[in-house]
Amino acid sequence: MKLRFRPYTLELKHVFTIANSSRTTTPVVLTEIDYDGILGYGEASMPPYLGESHESATAFLSRVDLSKFENPFELETILEYVDGIAPGNPAAKASVDIALHDLLGKIMNQPWYNIWGYDRKLAPNTSFTIGIDKEDVVRQKTKEAAEFKVLKVKLGRDTDKMMIETIRSVTDKPITADVNQGWKDRSSALEMLHWLKEKGVVMIEQPMPKEQIDNNAWLTERSPIPIFGDEGVQRLPDVKKAHGVYSGINIKLMKSTGMREAHKMLVLARSLGMQVMLGCMTETSCAISAASHLAPMVDFADLDGALLISNDVYDGTKVIDGKITLMERPGIGVKKL
Ligand code: MG
Repeated sequence: MKLRFRPYTLELKHVFTIANSSRTTTPVVLTEIDYDGILGYGEASMPPYLGESHESATAFLSRVDLSKFENPFELETILEYVDGIAPGNPAAKASVDIALHDLLGKIMNQPWYNIWGYDRKLAPNTSFTIGIDKEDVVRQKTKEAAEFKVLKVKLGRDTDKMMIETIRSVTDKPITADVNQGWKDRSSALEMLHWLKEKGVVMIEQPMPKEQIDNNAWLTERSPIPIFGDEGVQRLPDVKKAHGVYSGINIKLMKSTGMREAHKMLVLARSLGMQVMLGCMTETSCAISAASHLAPMVDFADLDGALLISNDVYDGTKVIDGKITLMERPGIGVKKL
């Protein structure tokens, strides 16, 4: 097996603003694993606030030597080796994991939803994200999102009520909200949650800073809508810690180090009676398609990452009439454009 990789920069269609940052591009690294001429595709997406970069990912990937493994099916051994090369680097690790999954699916000539035993038709609608912006821009973006059945709104600044009321002036679709740790006081947060429920908000992500375990747990116990941990839940060991703190977890391949650990997180969260949401970064259709194989098993999905960019390099899982629609293709189901 041979690993190849190249840095690439995604151009965002709109400036993207969340609770504490704004940007117009996202650095990614595109990977390929070549095994006897069969190619598996992968991707690392690295929004700057998470600490990885073109430099860190390419430095990490230069240290990955897959030539020492003869059997690509030894996922556990291979991925444990990759994980052990250096701490951190979850997106770089995911780019190897995804390419390996794509390769294995192609060798078996089966898509991963089949290998995992999931019905691709059960994949939910994806939400479409509306970033924090001025009233007229929010109204415009809400109108542009006509195809989507669920809207995800970014909150966490002093404009939260304006954001929700502006969307509600255009549509009565269900809204999911993401505070990105932006609320600082639990009592006013709880009041806000009741107000949001009245406005048709159906769930909320990471209301308070991830370090504030007790405050997040206090809110979850009292909240009229489910609360999902996102920044507070990165990898498998975090799932058990999130039990009792959040009602559900937001799984993303770029946090979990890829599909294998994401799948383990999903199974563990379910066994603990927690809800599961599937999220993404701004990514090409490569990483989005990889994540979508878990979509049939989740309560909420936010897989709009490839729709936010103007220079995708893959064709794969699509959003059709608001619904995540997986291709009947082996592996993660992507083709190069
Ligand atoms: Mg989030």
